[in-house]
Amino acid sequence: TDRTALGPLVGAIDQGTSSSRFLVFNAKTAELLSHHQVEISQKFPKEGWVEQDPKEILNSVFECVEKTCEKLKQLNINISNIKAIGVTNQRETTVVWDKTTGEPLYNAIVWLDLRTQSTVERLLKKIPGKNKAFSKFKTGLPLSTYFSAVKLRWLLDNVEEIKKAVGDGRAMFGTIDSWLIWSLTGGKNGGIHCTDVTNASRTMLFNIHSLEWDPELCQFFEIPMEILPKVRSSSEIYGLMKICPSLKSGALTGVPISGCLGDQSAALVGQMCFQDGQAKNTYGTGCFLLCNTGQKSVFSEHGLITTIAYKLGRDKPVCYALEGSVAIAGAVVRWLRDNLGIAKSSQEVEKLAAEVGTSYGVYFVPAFSGLYAPYWEPSARGIICGLTQFTNKKHIAFAALEAVCFQTREILDAMNKDCGIPLSQLQVDGGMTNNKILMQLQADILCIPVVKPSMPETTALGAAMAAGAAEGVGVWSLNPGDWTAVTSERFEPQLNPEESEFRYARWKKAVLKSMGWETA
Ligand code: ADP
Repeated sequence: TDRTALGPLVGAIDQGTSSSRFLVFNAKTAELLSHHQVEISQKFPKEGWVEQDPKEILNSVFECVEKTCEKLKQLNINISNIKAIGVTNQRETTVVWDKTTGEPLYNAIVWLDLRTQSTVERLLKKIPGKNKAFSKFKTGLPLSTYFSAVKLRWLLDNVEEIKKAVGDGRAMFGTIDSWLIWSLTGGKNGGIHCTDVTNASRTMLFNIHSLEWDPELCQFFEIPMEILPKVRSSSEIYGLMKICPSLKSGALTGVPISGCLGDQSAALVGQMCFQDGQAKNTYGTGCFLLCNTGQKSVFSEHGLITTIAYKLGRDKPVCYALEGSVAIAGAVVRWLRDNLGIAKSSQEVEKLAAEVGTSYGVYFVPAFSGLYAPYWEPSARGIICGLTQFTNKKHIAFAALEAVCFQTREILDAMNKDCGIPLSQLQVDGGMTNNKILMQLQADILCIPVVKPSMPETTALGAAMAAGAAEGVGVWSLNPGDWTAVTSERFEPQLNPEESEFRYARWKKAVLKSMGWETA
């Protein structure tokens, strides 16, 4: 084929918890043409603390853009055909930087970080009746260590540099999307300080009904509103790319950045879940099941959160989702590799589990960051129970994979109760879905089929779709019916339901044992 006659292309920056990527799609066919990925280091300076270097994140993005452009050139594809760029990112992770120097004032506090447990306790005391749900009506979220507001509160309380910068009017707050867009559109030389509604909905400072920063919540958390980014829709031109320092050709200079979605929202779009009741589950560092509830925000009675799914254009309606967030999924596999050293790679963990095909009665609750949905219990800590003389590392590897499936089952049960209509199958994506044993186990534990799309990079595709559909770009339309998901793999339940229920009941017993371990 004549690669020079491809027509318009759309790029996506996918900045995840474990890696950054840049991917380029053909706008006509949504085919992925090329991509590059760089792993990000995580720092654990104290127990429960998780940080990343915002400069390393930014440089990894530059490197991905540069390498992808080189690969495209080798394929004889003209990179000047890239007409728009979308950004999708790990959510809640909090950065404060100095707008006069362009330098971060502290490491990014990663969403998983637990240092704010005592901040949450202190804030709870300020609420009449210590009601964790007080913020739920406005934000859809319970007060928890997870969301950005408490991380920002911690930074303002504990980092002198940040206090000073706020006093001098030099500080800017943002989640990773804001940090990247500001830096890519010029940084200290006129960068655009913005975020989109999906990312804003994870801060706990944003009213998901009025779609504005909430002055009362900002007052409650004592957050100066002038450091917050401007909130935009998920699909509009935010600004133009300025020269990317590592891209000597300046090839992407002037390309609009016109899509922005938190990673889970982007995956929902990339999985084409545009209809009320459509859902997807993404297995990355954590695991996130989102169900589109259309233009109405549904409040969970069963421990789920209400979040913004997307708003695909300034004049387009906002759509909401119910979300079940699990903190630790792929991270448990990484932990087996890095902390216990029982395998050299994630794939090897899969191999170990496959060799035994059972946990032999071992249950592993990886509550490393407390438990998120449906429990919201920061005092939980990880446990491995049911050990005998017979247990070996392969059983533990298997139990770790099974834990991811049980956690998803708890979320799905809650989702079915809240929605009324049970899901008849589960659409999945994310790095962990390469693990076939995990996918089969998931079907067995849910007792419904698990289906993978033919396009595995759903998060990036969602961000690219938003960017390509923006007003003034217009290489894509997002009319319902224009896009349908194509299934590539389907896993049918094979275990008998009684056996499945028995194991699930055991899991629940193990979860109870993990709770109340650590009190702030
Ligand atoms: P994120 O978006 O959170 O950065 P990804 O979707 O890139 O995550 O997935 C990476 C995660 O998936 C890592 O935590 C890794 O341990 C896990 N993972 C990747 N491949 C496998 C596999 N074959 N088996 C189990 N886990 C895997």
